[in-house]
Amino acid sequence: MGNITVTSATNDRPSIPQLYGCNVFSNAVMKERLPKATYKALRQTIDMGTPLQADVAAVVANAMKDWAIEKGATHYTHWFQPLTGSTAEKHDSFISPNSKGEVIMEFSGQQLTQGEPDASSFPSGGLRATFEARGYTAWDCTSPAFLKKDSGGNVTLCIPTAFCSYNGEALDKKTPLLRSMNAVSTQALRVLRVLGNTTSTRVIATVGPEQEYFLVDRTLFLQRLDLLSTGRTLFGAPSPKGQELEDQYFGSIKDRVSEFMFDLDMELWKMGISAKTKHNEVAPAQYELAPVFATTNIAADHNYLVMETMQKVALRHDMVCLLHEKPYAGINGSGKHNNWSLSTDDGFNLLDPGDTPSENAKFLVMLCALLQAIDTHADIMRGTCGSAGNDHRLGANEAPPAIISIFLGSALTDILQNIAAGKKVCSKSGCEFVKIGVDSLPDLPRDNTDRNRTSPFAFTGNKFEFRMLGSAQSISGPNVAINTIAAEALDAIATRLEKAKDVNKEILALIKDTMKKHGHIIFNGNNYADAWVKEAAKRKLPNIRNSVDAMKAFISPKAEKLFEKYSVLSKEELHSRYEIYTEQYAKQVNIEAQTAMQMVKRQYVPAVIRYMEELGSSAAAAGSHGSVQKKILAQADTLLQSAVKNLEKLATETAKAQAITDVTKQAEAFRDKVLTALTPLRQDIDALEEIVSDDLWPVPSYSDMLFTL
Ligand code: ADP
Ligand code: MG
Repeated sequence: MGNITVTSATNDRPSIPQLYGCNVFSNAVMKERLPKATYKALRQTIDMGTPLQADVAAVVANAMKDWAIEKGATHYTHWFQPLTGSTAEKHDSFISPNSKGEVIMEFSGQQLTQGEPDASSFPSGGLRATFEARGYTAWDCTSPAFLKKDSGGNVTLCIPTAFCSYNGEALDKKTPLLRSMNAVSTQALRVLRVLGNTTSTRVIATVGPEQEYFLVDRTLFLQRLDLLSTGRTLFGAPSPKGQELEDQYFGSIKDRVSEFMFDLDMELWKMGISAKTKHNEVAPAQYELAPVFATTNIAADHNYLVMETMQKVALRHDMVCLLHEKPYAGINGSGKHNNWSLSTDDGFNLLDPGDTPSENAKFLVMLCALLQAIDTHADIMRGTCGSAGNDHRLGANEAPPAIISIFLGSALTDILQNIAAGKKVCSKSGCEFVKIGVDSLPDLPRDNTDRNRTSPFAFTGNKFEFRMLGSAQSISGPNVAINTIAAEALDAIATRLEKAKDVNKEILALIKDTMKKHGHIIFNGNNYADAWVKEAAKRKLPNIRNSVDAMKAFISPKAEKLFEKYSVLSKEELHSRYEIYTEQYAKQVNIEAQTAMQMVKRQYVPAVIRYMEELGSSAAAAGSHGSVQKKILAQADTLLQSAVKNLEKLATETAKAQAITDVTKQAEAFRDKVLTALTPLRQDIDALEEIVSDDLWPVPSYSDMLFTL
């Protein structure tokens, strides 16, 4: 056997370390290309938030442009995240014509730091009258600029930006996220200082979002108007095989999918996105991707890019990536697990129990903060996961219920309860009284056996996993909420500990108070069981089953006070968000209704009529022998009549809902009248699918879409 070279990659591919981040204006690139003083000044801005001087920006812009042009870029864009839920970009070329009719390639400091897209067509929820179209984008230098390449090889420099109105009101998802990260950092630092930390200068919220998705063959997708225009199937009889054999989860990955995943990883790695884990999910044709966690604003940017890249790369493989929360009825939908923690700039994870008494004390304080935060603002957390799509999951038997609770695991719960009750804390090595700050906690089990997959907010060893998010949504909203409610709780705790004569005694009192007041938010059992719904009601935990109601949490006086206090969102900004999201809900259901009506009128009814014709002529030709044809004909006729009646009802209800002007009332009408009118119509059509000849059925079946990849 010859020598095996392990350093170079096979198939002429560059090695992964060479490839990783090659399209990112990374710290390494900045260090290499910027003059020392400029690099230092920029790092100050990135790390400490000091304002960026114009002369520094000019030098950075020039270096960024040269780098991008060397990599083939012709254009740049301020890349931002308006409240539409997707990202936005307006491309400008670097060209600047001179008097000789030639062009030079230019990019100024001003062009890097600030843009002025015409904002009039983005939702502002009344924050900015349309005549005042000016909104502006501001460079978020803490999230690195990157290059996007299309399949033709054209390259664009993308600059992550925040998007605000002329008066500085947030019109996007990033602005409040950055504000909330500051808020939680400030308050967490106060707590750390009281606990004796003198070294950390910032606390960073970190997030690792696990992204679920479906793949479907592109040819089949294009034959389904519902998938095309709503992202989910509005009709479709169940396939004979579903997910009941449980043979998909972690199953071996089919070649076609594996090739897609490989391609996807490559594209993500080039953009410096640390795609790490991939596997088959529970439902047929469902998958998951998880990156290594990152600072929250970067994680949010990256998650948008993950979703976008999944869709792009899928097309290259003649597939379509479905990010909707519930593409298919009767099998699992897709969510997004938001793993969240706080760590100091010098590398300590605040949710890591640690080994020493002082680390343990800090950990217990953090747990108290989260118990208080989540219990006090369960309604807000639930609200941030509201969308028309996610309503099909939350509360169904696949996602956590709409009730927020916290899973801590029995070992940790026992410790908290025993400390609170002044009892001994037990471990393998025996039972003893634990003095906070003086004694170490017993070793906590960190293996997966103590994991609970049904809890909406689960402690998983050194982080919390929030599992309510929908697969299609931005992770910003939920993290704005977690950061802000954590900031509020940490603020109160810091104030309390700062005043205490004996900090360790005060922590003990804090644990006692927290368990008494907020202990009811802890639930380690099966969240999917009916018994929990009853138990939660007894504990008076909110159970808000639909998004229209859940989103009302954003405009409660409690929410206004919270978000204003930490300068994350003003009352006006909250109200505008509420309005935009509620309107989006109504619009989405309206599109579903329009799509359903069109499919029934132009596809299903004609197909059934054709089949009835076939049955009719066959029955006539068979004379006295056509009893089977006649029986099916009668069944089809009954179902068709019912479908047409239900179609009319849907049309009437949709028209009525459309005419409502009040945003909330309109969304409620779409929820209560229109969505509910879709159900019986679907039942008729799905029943027809089960009797109409396969060759006449106008759209691909569930079996086609789920099992032919
Ligand atoms: P599982 O499916 O078992 O919950 P995964 O490995 O799929 O776990 O995903 C766990 C996610 O949590 C990863 O994205 C990981 O990087 C992230 N994570 C780990 N530690 C932290 C942390 N301290 N803060 C935020 N996220 C974290
Ligand atoms: Mg996972």
